[in-house]
Order: sequence, then structure tokens, then C-alpha cells
Amino acid sequence: LERAGDAGGFELIDLSLADHAVDRLTLIADLPRAIAAGELFLHYQPKINVRQQQVSSAEALIRWQHPDRGLIMPGDFIAAAEDSGLIGPLTLWTLRQVIADQRRLAALGHDIPLFLNISGMLLANAGFIDEVCEIITANPAAKLGFEITETAVIRDPESAIRHLQRFADHGVVLAIDDYGAGLSSLAYLKQLPAKELKIDKMFITQLTSSHRDPLIVRSTIDLAHALEMEVTAEGVETPAALALLSVMGCDLVQGYLISRPVPFPALCSYLGEQDQLAETMASRPVFLRSGSS
Ligand code: C2E
Ligand code: MG
Ligand code: MG
Ligand code: MG
Repeated sequence: LERAGDAGGFELIDLSLADHAVDRLTLIADLPRAIAAGELFLHYQPKINVRQQQVSSAEALIRWQHPDRGLIMPGDFIAAAEDSGLIGPLTLWTLRQVIADQRRLAALGHDIPLFLNISGMLLANAGFIDEVCEIITANPAAKLGFEITETAVIRDPESAIRHLQRFADHGVVLAIDDYGAGLSSLAYLKQLPAKELKIDKMFITQLTSSHRDPLIVRSTIDLAHALEMEVTAEGVETPAALALLSVMGCDLVQGYLISRPVPFPALCSYLGEQDQLAETMASRPVFLRSGSS
């Protein structure tokens, strides 16, 4: 028990933490079964090219439909999968799934790259890197991207950069995810073979109500452009944020304003209705002005 400051009461902080730990343990023990039982599935969230007003790619986000616990989000099992060593097999499953979905998209005439999230810690695992390269070599037509958080790169920069270069040599587009949220290092950023920088949503969701976030976002966009990278803003929730990002020269946007992460069939129909998307975006006056400048 811990004394809660101003409120003058007591909180069951320790107990709830213990519960959570037990929870994670049982969940993780259950994960291999869940993969085999087909309880994991992917949602896709489109990334929109601001100038072209078109879907440029989509990101796969994993979910777990548990028979007893219902829908479990990645925030509740990815960290545990990393701790337990299951993240490797889980990511290979995701990679195969994404390749199959990308092939389906291409067959429907929507040959856009699909991105998956790769835990940075896997970049230290040579066996994992080999398996990934094997799978993508066997599927040369699949347009793929990997989103990687750069905090992990800093832990062992040389080998991580070497491994990322192998992915890039195999035609995989690399994006740095959650930029600004962790220990961002400009020194390593410069060396990474990444084409895309994703600004963490913590700087985007309050973009138009904060004093500092617009300054941080603008300078990050300029920095990324100086390094010849494309910039994605994640967490775009309002027309005002979209308008401001457009003025700032942000290349790609992703967020609930445009689309939540959706099941694969919904992504397919979304891609078939892109005229509608252009209309939605063009109907925002500020956005139009900046787009034509
Ligand atoms: P992320 O890759 O940075 O993904 C962005 C997260 O923000 C997603 O949460 C997405 O649903 C959410 N999001 C998207 N648009 C908005 C918005 O407009 N507002 C707000 N507030 N949130 C938005 P999700 O799906 O719960 O995923 C959380 C994290 O879990 C991801 O962050 C990623 O780091 C990790 N993750 C998801 N799938 C995988 C996977 O297959 N493998 C690995 N290693 N990690 C994954
Ligand atoms: Mg991501
Ligand atoms: Mg992110
Ligand atoms: Mg994130």
C-alpha cells in the first residue's frame, strides 16, 4: 500500500501491479497456442500522401481475439512477447501474413507497400534476420516496409545498422517509428538506411492546442527533409491538425481522421474508393490552399 499524495487516501498500487504481472505471464504462456489456433489477426491502417491525396501504403497492426478475454491489443502482449523470446516467431507469422495480403492487394490492382512493425530488439538477432531475408527472397514481388523504433538501434548501433542495410538491399522500405518518443539520436539517424520518419503521435494529437508541439514537429519535418527522408505524422485526429501538417510540408499522414486500423477487406474497399478520399481532403479550405502553394 502506498500513501496517495494530495487525496489523503490509500491506493492499491502494488496489488494491481502484481495482478498485471501475473496476467502477462499467463497471457504469454498462451501465445504459442493462440498463434496455432489462429487467434491472432491483423488490422491495416492506411497512410495518406498529403499532396497526391492518395493512399501510399498501409501499416499492419496485430490483434489477438482471445476465446475468454476478448480482444487484446498489442500494447498488452508485445512487450511480454519480447521478454519471453516469442516476438521472433510472432513477427515471422506477421511477415508471412502481410506478404499474402500484399499479393492479394496487388491482384486487386492496389499494389501498395504494406508495412509491419519490427521490434528493435530483433535487430540484434542474426538468426531472425536470416529468416526474414529468406522469406522475402522467396517472395520477390511483395512490396514491403518495416517500421522500427530507433531506441533499440542505439543499444547496438553497428550490427543494427548492418542488419537494416540487409533489409534495404532486399528491397524493403524502412521507416523509423515513434520518432521523438524515446532516446532519439541524431548521430544514428544520419546513418540509418531509412526512407521514412514517423513522428510519434504524442506530438501530433495535441498539435493545434499546444505551443511547443508545432515547433517540434516543424523542425523535425525540416530535419527529415534535410536527410532526404519522407515524414509521416501518426495520430492525426482533426482537420485542423491535418491542415497545419500540410502547411508544414508533412508528406504522409495517418490517424483516426482518415481511417482507424481496419480488417483487410475494409482496406480493400477503402482503396477502391479513393476518389472519395480526395473529396474529403479537398473539402477542407486551409488544406487546399496549402496544397496548391
Ligand atoms: P505504432 O506502430 O506506433 O502504431 C500506432 C498506434 O497508434 C496503433 O495502436 C494505432 O492503432 C494507434 N493510432 C492510429 N491512429 C491513431 C490516432 O489518430 N490517434 C490515436 N490516439 N492512436 C492512433 P495499436 O494498434 O494499439 O498498436 C500499438 C503498438 O503496438 C504499435 O505502435 C506498435 O509499436 C506495436 N505493434 C502493433 N502490431 C505489432 C506487431 O505486429 N509487431 C510488433 N513488434 N509490434 C506491434
Ligand atoms: Mg508502427
Ligand atoms: Mg508509431
Ligand atoms: Mg507507437
